[in-house]
Amino acid sequence: MPVEATGPYDDNNIFARILRGEIPSKRVHEDEWSLAFHDINPQAPIHVLVIPKGKWRSWADFSAHASDAEIAGFIRAVGLVARQLGLETPGYRLLANAGLDAHQEVPHLHVHVFGGRPLGAMLAPIS
Ligand code: 5GP
Repeated sequence: MPVEATGPYDDNNIFARILRGEIPSKRVHEDEWSLAFHDINPQAPIHVLVIPKGKWRSWADFSAHASDAEIAGFIRAVGLVARQLGLETPGYRLLANAGLDAHQEVPHLHVHVFGGRPLGAMLAPIS
């Protein structure tokens, strides 16, 4: 079920529970600001999610209100994870879904990192 990008943070969303260690995940990176783990339902040979540790629901909320250190830490983590996964040379795709039209399903900001094969064009053209 898609969720809205706006509204209060839900402390019981699935990624909050992963951050608290209540739900297992296959972690690939963790630092002061971020956690990265494999998507449970991969859409590419490599499909990793990078999330900030703070309680941010969407990119708009995060970019407007998070501290500079938190934003820098998260962005650096996304790049680091892509590099550590060996995706820099072959290439990869980053995706952040926000809200209903984008079909965001988990109301905790996350960036998808896709790679491991040619990914094709981004979206079908509008007709
Ligand atoms: P969204 O549509 O919100 O951008 O993407 C949410 C992603 O979270 C989906 O790709 C989905 O497969 C993934 N996901 C949902 N629940 C879990 C879970 O419990 N563990 C992991 N590792 N990924 C999950």
